[in-house]
Amino acid sequence: MFTQTRIKLTVLLAVILIVLYGLLSMVAGTVVNSLTIGQVDRSLRVGAMGLLRHDSTLNESLREPPTDRNPNDHYSPHLAHSFFLVGIRSMTGNVLASNDKTLMQFVPFPVNPMGDASYMTWRDSSAGYRLRLITVPVSDSTGSVVGFLQMGIDISPQLQVLQKFWQVFLTVGIIGFLIALLAGYYVSGRALRPIYKSWVQQQRFVADASHELRTPLAIIQSNLDLALSHGEQTDVEVLEWVSNAKAEARRITRMTDDLLTLARTDGNETMLELVDVDLLQLAKSTHELFMPIAEDKGVDLVLDDQTAGRLIVKGDYSRLRQLLVILVDNALKYTPASGRVTIELIAQRHRALLLVADTGIGMTREEMTHAFDRFYRADQARKRESGGTGLGLSIAKWIVETHGGKISIQSVVGEGSAFTVIL
Ligand code: ADP
Repeated sequence: MFTQTRIKLTVLLAVILIVLYGLLSMVAGTVVNSLTIGQVDRSLRVGAMGLLRHDSTLNESLREPPTDRNPNDHYSPHLAHSFFLVGIRSMTGNVLASNDKTLMQFVPFPVNPMGDASYMTWRDSSAGYRLRLITVPVSDSTGSVVGFLQMGIDISPQLQVLQKFWQVFLTVGIIGFLIALLAGYYVSGRALRPIYKSWVQQQRFVADASHELRTPLAIIQSNLDLALSHGEQTDVEVLEWVSNAKAEARRITRMTDDLLTLARTDGNETMLELVDVDLLQLAKSTHELFMPIAEDKGVDLVLDDQTAGRLIVKGDYSRLRQLLVILVDNALKYTPASGRVTIELIAQRHRALLLVADTGIGMTREEMTHAFDRFYRADQARKRESGGTGLGLSIAKWIVETHGGKISIQSVVGEGSAFTVIL
């Protein structure tokens, strides 16, 4: 799928490049043409107008064809001299006089020469050169057109320059196009890499989620099957199977809540509602919330306030509460009876430090590096059947990072863990 997209992007880039290069060559062609042929046309026009203005013999030539005379004697010599071909034609196009009468016979006469001036390019196939020709009407003193002046310049050198230009342009175009194709393939590959990575992550996420949901669902099903198929069992046994199923159903609910949160964060749907949040007040309420569970477990839950009575940060109240709940819940989950869990708050100059430390089972170095991965649960945590989903710390990390903060773990196996949040 990604290779196809990559090829499609490269082809799209190629098409864009071809169109752009085509437009560029049209502009360049027009400019170069007007610099070369345009320049020739201008000098042809200036020459023709000069002859028409200054050469009083033109009209005479039209009345009395100077068939055998050299037009260089006949027309203003300095003007006629600078042109390859000069000649005059009658109204019907017959050659009346020219500096090269033979050549003039072959030179085409415009179909409609009555305009201000007509230009054309003609190739002498026998001699191999090309002439740029101008044809201008010649008028008598009353203003009526009585014949035509036709002049030509050999533009073979200019055309050679033009040809060279187009050759270079084409070669550069082809080489540039090939390089651009390779670069396009490489760049599109690089651009697609993060999308590919996140696609793989999503695939894994869906696979992991299905896998994780299948286990509690299987447990629910088997417990309900037992309850239904053993009608002879006592109520106590049946109740135990049903309560097993209920516990797993709770686990599924928790997991789907977490999955929904993560899916929303992936889709950037979760917007933070930033307000002034008093972290101390939040820590106190979390402490109160978990007190009964801690007492139940025989764990000492302590709130260590190192602030001056208030610690205000800009943040989303419910997300920061969720963060504290995840960290304290984990600490209590992974700390055995007679252990201790401490929530500590420290106010620093421009930041707030939140520490949740425990004297629980701790983590190995390997476990610490994966603790924030989705669905990661250390073996010990799995063995303890703590009811975790492996999603809590991924959510915690997302909350801290969207608040522009940092979260880190220090832990020693068998001694305990400490989570530090800097906001
Ligand atoms: P879970 O729902 O399994 O607790 P989390 O994402 O919150 O998922 O945590 C991931 C894993 O990190 C846990 O399964 C556990 O192995 C480890 N862990 C998290 N907090 C602690 C802690 N305070 N002490 C020891 N291990 C912990």
